[in-house]
Amino acid sequence: MTAGSGDGFRAVYGAAPDGVWAAPGRVNLIGEHTDYNDGFVMPLALPHTCRVSAARRDDGVLRLHSADAAGGVTELRVDDLTPLGVVGDRGGWAAYPAGVVWALRAAGHRVGGADLHVESSVPTGAGLSSSAALEVATAFAFSDLYGLGLPAPRLAQLCRRAENDFVGVPCGVMDQMASACCTAGHALHLDTRDLTRRQVPLDLSVGGLRLLVVDTGVKHALGDGAYAERRAGCEAGAAALGVRALRDVPYGRLGAALERISDPWLRPLVRHVVTENQRVQQAVRLLDVGETAAIGPVLTAGHASLRDDFAVSCPELDLVVEASGAAGALGARMTGGGFGGSAVVLARAAAAESVGKAVNDAFAVAGYRAPRVFEAVPSAGAGRVTTA
Ligand code: ADP
Ligand code: MG
Repeated sequence: MTAGSGDGFRAVYGAAPDGVWAAPGRVNLIGEHTDYNDGFVMPLALPHTCRVSAARRDDGVLRLHSADAAGGVTELRVDDLTPLGVVGDRGGWAAYPAGVVWALRAAGHRVGGADLHVESSVPTGAGLSSSAALEVATAFAFSDLYGLGLPAPRLAQLCRRAENDFVGVPCGVMDQMASACCTAGHALHLDTRDLTRRQVPLDLSVGGLRLLVVDTGVKHALGDGAYAERRAGCEAGAAALGVRALRDVPYGRLGAALERISDPWLRPLVRHVVTENQRVQQAVRLLDVGETAAIGPVLTAGHASLRDDFAVSCPELDLVVEASGAAGALGARMTGGGFGGSAVVLARAAAAESVGKAVNDAFAVAGYRAPRVFEAVPSAGAGRVTTA
């Protein structure tokens, strides 16, 4: 079976799909925990994609099947979709595509049923946004099947709504925007306040560089509660400073802002968000002038801030940064929400292999499960796959 051929769909539904759509996972180069503070992020799309083969149905029935999940076909009626729980188990995977259909309909778009088959090469739960890839591929499929012609950023916003309000995960908009809007050879500089964006050249091979993703394979349980606490902390910090969001605190006035915050728990949260926004802008300036290697120390500074100020790292992520740095990497940081998941490492091509090995060895010495290391090649965003 070739990827995107529709063979998986045929095996489940006994007919050919109307088309196949693909949406990538993403890795965030820099700009962590800034997206719910109206700040800046800079993700890139991975070559790993979620592919949705789909056929329109005009009877209002939605059938969902994933090659990557147990449980066979989930059958629903689009008229019955209501937030949080229509799939029965709110945590079930079918809530993601069903939520997209709900969000499209809630926004007034006339979409009905479909048969969907999902197959993904995006690792799930590794902080690489397999959930956004699934939503975005579904949204692109429905936009085409029902002739909606919605632009990619609009589909991304609806996917975020699906994840927030239907699935019940309070994520920002970065993941869906990255999956929908990234282009090959670029990172996406995104202002999460108004969704203005620019493709920033990230040609690693020209500079003799490699960007590695290290999936630690761990997911520490405290992640969800910690995320909610930090979100609330950032809102409290913004309120204490009388700004709409922490994005409105200029880097040049950080010292004065921190003096106005009496709560010792809020102060480092504010410092992380303000300095992280500054680091994104700094990385963009460096990439714009082709100084790609120089973003290494910016990445590492970002990790220190997430570890020490925002307190969302974990021993495994810290070890990736420490071991890769000791082995000659140019820079490294945890990526995604934290408490496990993945890290990114920037290295010279000649050193990449030994850096990967050093991380593996350090994990073995620490008694951690072997991490998965792969190269992140800045890839294309979502679209329809041409089938043979
Ligand atoms: P991440 O987005 O970082 O991979 P999440 O916890 O946000 O992690 O999303 C993972 C969830 O998305 C899975 O538990 C599953 O419910 C759903 N999912 C992602 N990809 C697939 C797939 N190919 N098939 C079925 N469900 C998927
Ligand atoms: Mg996700």
